[in-house]
Amino acid sequence: MTAQSSVVSAGVLPDFAVLGGGLCGRLVAWRLAGEGHRVALYERGGADGSASAAWVAAAMLAPLAEAAVAEPLIVELGAASLEAWPQIIAQLPESVFFQRNGTLVVWHHGDRAEASLFERRVRANAPAALLADGGLARVDGAALAAAEPALAGRFATGWLMPREGQLDNRQVLRALAAGLAERGVATHWNTAVDEDARPLARVTIDCRGLGAKPVLPSLRGIRGEVARVKAPGIGLTRPVRLLHPRYPIYLAPKEDDVYVVGATEIEGEDMSPVSVRSALELLSAAFAVHPGFGEARILELNTQCRPTLPDHRPSISWDGARTLVVNGLYRHGYMIAPEVSRAAADLAAALLTGRIADAEAFGALREASPWASMLHCPQPQPQAGLAPTVGA
Ligand SMILES: Cc1cc2nc3c(=O)[nH]c(=O)nc-3n(C[C@H](O)[C@H](O)[C@H](O)COP(=O)(O)OP(=O)(O)OC[C@H]3O[C@@H](n4cnc5c(N)ncnc54)[C@H](O)[C@@H]3O)c2cc1C
Repeated sequence: MTAQSSVVSAGVLPDFAVLGGGLCGRLVAWRLAGEGHRVALYERGGADGSASAAWVAAAMLAPLAEAAVAEPLIVELGAASLEAWPQIIAQLPESVFFQRNGTLVVWHHGDRAEASLFERRVRANAPAALLADGGLARVDGAALAAAEPALAGRFATGWLMPREGQLDNRQVLRALAAGLAERGVATHWNTAVDEDARPLARVTIDCRGLGAKPVLPSLRGIRGEVARVKAPGIGLTRPVRLLHPRYPIYLAPKEDDVYVVGATEIEGEDMSPVSVRSALELLSAAFAVHPGFGEARILELNTQCRPTLPDHRPSISWDGARTLVVNGLYRHGYMIAPEVSRAAADLAAALLTGRIADAEAFGALREASPWASMLHCPQPQPQAGLAPTVGA
């Protein structure tokens, strides 16, 4: 059955069709259903989310640590989303491992130049509120050992960002699937949406990640490879990032001594299995952080591609008719999805009720949004016969 025929045969036109049930699509559908709307969701993979980038991600919620590589919009979206995650999780019908125990950044002595670069970038891109009250604290010797006993004596100095978070990506995907069922969303798992047979709905929200390339030709994938290992007895208590000029890695400890070790960042949409080189780099770097990783068991080696737009920013774009496209979450999906999905759900509801009928109305809503720079709509075309105005 095609996506279109499944809705038509049910005889009900939903308010919203959400295309893609990875991270963003699940959150958008869950929010809209929570407001009482009739929502249908179409996902080419299964309910576990294993076809999505979200399935492979480490799900670190680290706006300050990411400020070293991300611009202020992303950092601010991340800070607001970090506050929102506990409220979302509290409303889901299944439990989700969520932790707000900070991020620790360490480096080997020979790479200390990386540490000052990291600090300069973070201070340049992060809002003052995130840095205040020990938000970015230099720890050395005893303080580092007290923060992360497993690393006592292994690193002389580190940066501790005590308010950052992380969650279990697979648990949250599962809990969101249960939340969709609880809120009465018509979920169509294992149903790929075809460009020429789109499901019928009053408003469509396209959250297909890389699968949205037919409508977003500038979208590209950035390959990421991770290892999942089980390493009893090490006991890291928070994500640890190792600064390195060639092999920067992180170790994100989940429940039951499982660690996500990641991640490579390689241009291209190559979804083939993890290369030997990448596996060696990731696992050697983990071993360099703590020799206990030498005895870890490799549970999985995974590859996925991060959906990325040319400016590396998230984008919610309106086509001028009945469709929103939400994409470009790149390496920050978990970190920013609560706010991105909230903005998308608000715009979608405004489309449904007719509050957005033209570019002017969209512009007014955009101006009122704290995230105006990620909201886009078609530019009005100059009328035939009128010379374009030359800007000052
Ligand atoms: C290795 C790696 C590590 C990461 N680590 C982190 C991290 O620590 N913190 C963080 O914040 N982010 C991280 N991310 C980024 C995060 O995973 C992504 O930003 C996020 O998953 C993007 O969400 P999305 O919903 O847009 O896309 P996806 O999660 O990829 O979901 C898109 C969904 O659309 C479906 N789809 C595609 N085409 C169709 C179609 N035609 N019909 C129906 N369904 C379709 C797909 O099957 C998929 O389920 C990481 C990503 C990778 C790859």
